Amino acid sequence: KMVSVAINGYGTIGKRVADAVAAQKDMKIVGVSKTKPDFEARMALKKGYDLYISIPEREKLFQEAGIEISGTVEDMIEEADIIVDATPEGIGAKNLKMYREKGVKAIFQGGEKHEDIGLSFNSFTNYEDSLGADYTRVVSCNTTGLCRTLKPIDDLAGIKKVRAVMVRRAADPPQVKKGPVNAIVPNPPTVPSHHGPDLRTVMYGININTVALLVPTTLMHQHNIMVELEDPVDIEEIKEELDKTSRVMLVKAGEGLASTAEIMEYARELGRPRNDLYEIPVWEESLNIVDGELYYMQAVHQEADAVPESVDAIRALLELEEDNKRSIEKTNKAMGIL
Ligand code: NAD
Repeated sequence: KMVSVAINGYGTIGKRVADAVAAQKDMKIVGVSKTKPDFEARMALKKGYDLYISIPEREKLFQEAGIEISGTVEDMIEEADIIVDATPEGIGAKNLKMYREKGVKAIFQGGEKHEDIGLSFNSFTNYEDSLGADYTRVVSCNTTGLCRTLKPIDDLAGIKKVRAVMVRRAADPPQVKKGPVNAIVPNPPTVPSHHGPDLRTVMYGININTVALLVPTTLMHQHNIMVELEDPVDIEEIKEELDKTSRVMLVKAGEGLASTAEIMEYARELGRPRNDLYEIPVWEESLNIVDGELYYMQAVHQEADAVPESVDAIRALLELEEDNKRSIEKTNKAMGIL
């Protein structure tokens, strides 16, 4: 049996989750929601997704544009076993009330606050905790990136303490009104940034402090990570561990992958939809142990990396797979993850 999934908020994340869900054998999309009759609404229909509107008063605008709608978001919820909410920051928490009233399970994105949803999710660190739950929040693109590499390192050598410098993209590629265009902005200017506490919502008790800044790029985030380890390990063991970790890939600067721009070019060469890189690339040359402390650099394709986690979260909430490894395997296979 296929479970019925609806996407509330068909934007950067929502449209990617819709396609990832549609690619799974055990799930189908029963609807996606739009606020405006724009090209994305038209594209959703072309893909065969039923379109629902989140602002009922705008029905006329859709009619005038000749874009067929199947009802309102409330109607869409009736069709679904579970909702993936990918609305902008803060709106998900407001929608939670509607999902509660309708008695439908829902998955939220990293823009929501952990406290508002009550539970957070990463496929590798705490899948089990969301089994059968009504609501969970897939942590942000940056936090997902930290989980992907810190979890295997913690399993291998034990983590005493992490420090990370997070270099964040200023905007997503289509966001013409966001900046900075010509500045480096400590963001937040206070230390530590919120990324450490956010990681602790899925990797409980980890000792981590982060600082973050914004730079004028749209392509990817980049992380510089320093880890004090519990056990003495060889850098080759760390490399091997990361190399065999799902949704992590070692890349070589020396092979022409020396920047986020070239890594995105690699994703294009892979023929990925929308050039999406679901895996976290780690620069092989950056991996080093100095005075017992591990250093490495990685990048995060913010639009894509947490998308497979949203698919796994559906399996956890609906208890389609008890074991995270089996869900990860299914998701990876359907999405063509390396
Ligand atoms: P987005 O603005 O690209 O998409 C949001 C969509 O929701 C838009 O299509 C918008 O029209 C629609 N929408 C607005 N209000 C709505 C409502 N009341 N009901 C239904 N739909 C509504 O935003 P995004 O970048 O996809 O972000 C969505 C969530 O994912 C946020 O929590 C964000 O923090 C998180 N997230 C974003 C990124 C990223 O890099 N873009 C990465 C990871 C997580």
